[in-house]
Amino acid sequence: MSGLTSVGRFAPSPTGPLHFGSLVSALASFLDARQRNGQWLVRIEDIDPPREVPGASDQILRQLESHGLCWDGSVLYQSTRLDSYKVALDSLIDSGLVYQCQCNRQRIVSLGGIYDGLCSNLKLPSEGQAARLRVNNASISFNDQIVGQYHQRLKTDIGDFVLQRRDALYSYQLAVVVDDEYQSISHIMRGSDLLDSTPRQIYLQQCLGMQQPEYTHLPLALNAEGQKLSKQNLAAGLREGDEARHLWSALHWLQQSPPEELQKQSIDRILDWGIEHWSLEGLAQNNQNTIAPEGY
Ligand code: GLU
Repeated sequence: MSGLTSVGRFAPSPTGPLHFGSLVSALASFLDARQRNGQWLVRIEDIDPPREVPGASDQILRQLESHGLCWDGSVLYQSTRLDSYKVALDSLIDSGLVYQCQCNRQRIVSLGGIYDGLCSNLKLPSEGQAARLRVNNASISFNDQIVGQYHQRLKTDIGDFVLQRRDALYSYQLAVVVDDEYQSISHIMRGSDLLDSTPRQIYLQQCLGMQQPEYTHLPLALNAEGQKLSKQNLAAGLREGDEARHLWSALHWLQQSPPEELQKQSIDRILDWGIEHWSLEGLAQNNQNTIAPEGY
């Protein structure tokens, strides 16, 4: 952990408005940071323009504010950080850890998603190719605050992975690691759909000589069909004017046992209660993905 203060963050991709599932992640990371008297930062992960929805960043920020989730400092936009991703990538290239790969998506799919290293010794020119990071056979493990001990062997579970795509866009894995270090993030709390990305991020931190934050992966809020709430699955955005109910429902979903009467209080009272009572105990005992409350 770097620095004296604890620093948490919420890092949405601007692919649509906040929905119940993303509110849960935002609220949990906020309460966790505030209970530690730490900072809580917001970072907009806007490095994948084809997936972005115009206006979504501003909408997410307005929704956070209307729920009383006020962040420290200014919002960091990943689209302003491309030079830093290049510096990190160049240093990995200089260490001989990166190679260019010309394999297309179809081939990777045919391999079951685990890249077999076909291009690793070809020494292809960098123009128009993807840049992949060589992994090794070591087992990477970390102790998640909810999930417990989690292991992965990148060589056999993931394969060499992409840091820069053929269309020159930097990968989520590279950008997230560079920015978590840049913002001195000490505590990462996010949805468990990113659990299996974490060993890649830890490996990148090791390769780049960076600090490893503490990780906590929250269960996912599901729709009635058992799918993760997401824009792709047409999750409803959060209705304006109902913020207190959203916060109470999210606290309840996070197994914080908020009293019924708290629903009628102001959002500030609800958040104060949430900070005071924040605990991972219930989630650590039962970390199953759960259907979101009705109406979300
Ligand atoms: N931007 C990612 C998302 O919206 C989250 C990244 C992270 O928390 O590490 O799914």
